[in-house]
Amino acid sequence: MDTDCLFCRIVAGEIPATVVHETDTTLAFRDIDPKAPVHVLVIPKSHHPDVVTLAREDPAGSAGLLSAAAAVAEAEGLLTDGFRLLFNTGPYAGQEVFHVHGHVLGGAPLGPMLA
Ligand code: ADP
Repeated sequence: MDTDCLFCRIVAGEIPATVVHETDTTLAFRDIDPKAPVHVLVIPKSHHPDVVTLAREDPAGSAGLLSAAAAVAEAEGLLTDGFRLLFNTGPYAGQEVFHVHGHVLGGAPLGPMLA
């Protein structure tokens, strides 16, 4: 755990979050500032700054994170109409929290990716 990391502190239960899914290695909770009717963040419980680092350091954890995102999408009823799974990575993408997180977005048409 990185004590300066917001999402590590959510995993530790030090900061409240609305948890929608949990496994031994992952946690999923609602985004505090939703950009779509469904906006859930899916994270590994272990600290990796971004998805590239996670993929390099923990391939099994990467697979577990994808499985968790799929389970969230199914539980939120997003499989029929579709959804977006997004990993902002680095400054050009506007990443603000450097604990890897997949945004699961859906519940309405999302529009073009870069609009
Ligand atoms: P961006 O803010 O540009 O989307 P990120 O991809 O780093 O950058 O996303 C961080 C996300 O974390 C944001 O969508 C933000 O609303 C969300 N967030 C920040 N603090 C919390 C919190 N305490 N609980 C839930 N979501 C949070």
